[in-house]
This record gives sequence, structure tokens and C-alpha cells, in this order.
Amino acid sequence: LMQLFRPLDMLGWVYRSIRQGLIDMADMFRLLDTTMEVEDAPGAPALIVRRPTVTFEDVSFGYEKDRRILHGLSFEAPAGASVALVGPSGAGKSTIGRLLFRFYDPWEGRICVDGQDIAKVTQQSLRAMIGIVPQDSVLFNETIGYNIAYGRDEPAPDDVRLAARDAAILPFIEAMPQKFGTQVGERGLKLSGGEKQRVAIARTLLKDPPILLLDEATSALDSRTEQDILATLKRVSANRTTIAIAHRLSTIADADIINVMDAGRIVEQGKHTQLLRLNGLYAEMWNRQQNEEDETVAAE
Ligand code: ADP
Ligand code: MG
Repeated sequence: LMQLFRPLDMLGWVYRSIRQGLIDMADMFRLLDTTMEVEDAPGAPALIVRRPTVTFEDVSFGYEKDRRILHGLSFEAPAGASVALVGPSGAGKSTIGRLLFRFYDPWEGRICVDGQDIAKVTQQSLRAMIGIVPQDSVLFNETIGYNIAYGRDEPAPDDVRLAARDAAILPFIEAMPQKFGTQVGERGLKLSGGEKQRVAIARTLLKDPPILLLDEATSALDSRTEQDILATLKRVSANRTTIAIAHRLSTIADADIINVMDAGRIVEQGKHTQLLRLNGLYAEMWNRQQNEEDETVAAE
């Protein structure tokens, strides 16, 4: 009988998560796979953010007991700065995002936001401070308005409009007869990858978090759309602490700090020009990607 009750518990949990506006992370974190190992400490206070500095201090972590993924990793994202995490696939970049959102706790070390250990504050207050734009945003079979407002308690229509405008999707919405009432998804209008990302950006703007986590937010897009969305994200990330995870280095070359990761460690750290001069992993990745782009252009 207990076996039968487990999935029901899970459903209750999913339902509460939806209400808290968390389910839009499902695609990035495979929410249902990551059972909630993390619990709020009794009497945990809310996170209070005055200056949204994010620091990882000697963080070690693995998903399975005997397999360490992050090896004593340290970096800082100063308040308002844009910080990039780059490196080969499997290096542990997305894991950093999952730890910051506290889907897991580190084995060792700690993660702080504005000097407060995120393991000691409520998860809800932490997650309210972080907006995430994943690689492929998932939309609900609902109206565009619902998809933007999703997770907020009845936002003012003007605020939804402003978010759509700042995400540069307002003209697209207003060109449709039903406007914000336009049905999207399987039973409605199919949005392109770029349009979906804009809806996700609008949703994030409505949340208005001081910290932004972009996990390959443009990597599923063609390069022209990528340029458009990058320009939007650049505007959106002004005045916010932004952690941008990217495979294509050209998309983060202007970051304030670039952390180059390899096999769970930060192996190089600096600005684009400094990293090129180092002639290490970053320079190698950069040169390889430049050649690939040249080949693509030549092939066109
Ligand atoms: P990146 O984003 O840099 O490509 P990830 O952080 O997603 O890398 O993954 C780092 C490592 O952790 C990989 O070896 C991956 O296989 C492993 N990993 C990721 N998620 C899980 C999980 N839920 N369970 C077990 N191992 C995982
Ligand atoms: Mg990843």
C-alpha cells in the first residue's frame, strides 16, 4: 500500500511546485528525477538580498556517492556583473546552476548569495531571487498571456505587457487576432525556438529577479536568431548578476569574468583577451570554434 501512496505524495509535491512557479524549471532540472533531498532547516530565515553577489567557496559535489563531479570549485559573481561558465560538455556547468538553485547541497564548501549560505535560508526565498532561462523553454498548452504570467499571482496586465515588450515579443503578440489570449502549444499556435525563448525571457522579466542564470539559453537557435536573442538578453541582464553558461564562446566573449571549466574544476579565469593570451584551453576552444564558423560561412 505504501508503494501506492508514494506517487500521490509526488503529485502533491508537483502541484505545490506548480503553484510556487517552479515547474518551468522542469526541462532544465528534470524536476521529477531530482527527488527533493533538500529540506529547509527548522526556522530557516528568508534570504535577504541587498547586493546580489554569488560566491562558490571550495564546492565539491557529486550526484552519486563515489563519483565526484565538482572538485573544490571557487568563483565569484560580483553584484551586477556578468560571469560566464564555459568548457567542454560534461564539465559540470549545469551542475553549478542546479546547486545555486539548491536542488542539491554541496558535499563540501558553501554557496553564498549576498554573504548568506544558501543552505541556511528557505528554498522559496532563494528561488524567488533567481531567474532561469534554459536551452529549450517549455510552454504550456495555454494562452501566451498565461505562459508569460505563469508562476505569478494575477499580475497586472500592464506588467505582462511591459515584460513582453522588454523581451521583444510584443509586436508578434499584437499582430495576432487574439493577442495575449492566443492559444499556444500542441493545440494552438506553434512558436519557433526564438519565440519560445522570448516568452521565457518575458516570464523571467515579470519575476524581476536580481540574479539571472542562463544555461545555453541561445544554443538551440540558428545564428541569426541567436544574435537577436543575445541582444535582448544583454539588455535584460543589465543591473542584474548574470551567470551565463555557454558552449559557443562568441556569445559570452564580452563577459566581465569568464570561468573556464574542465572535468569539474575551474582551470582558467579572466577576460576574453587575457584568456586568449594564456594560450590554454580557452584559446584552443576559441580557435577551433572560429575555424568551424569560417567553414560554415564558406559552405553557405
Ligand atoms: P555540463 O553542463 O558542463 O555539460 P553537467 O553539469 O550537466 O555538465 O554534468 C556534469 C557531469 O555530471 C556529467 O558527467 C554528467 O553525466 C553528470 N550528471 C549530470 N546530471 C546527473 C544526474 N542527475 N545524475 C548523475 N550524474 C549526473
Ligand atoms: Mg549543461
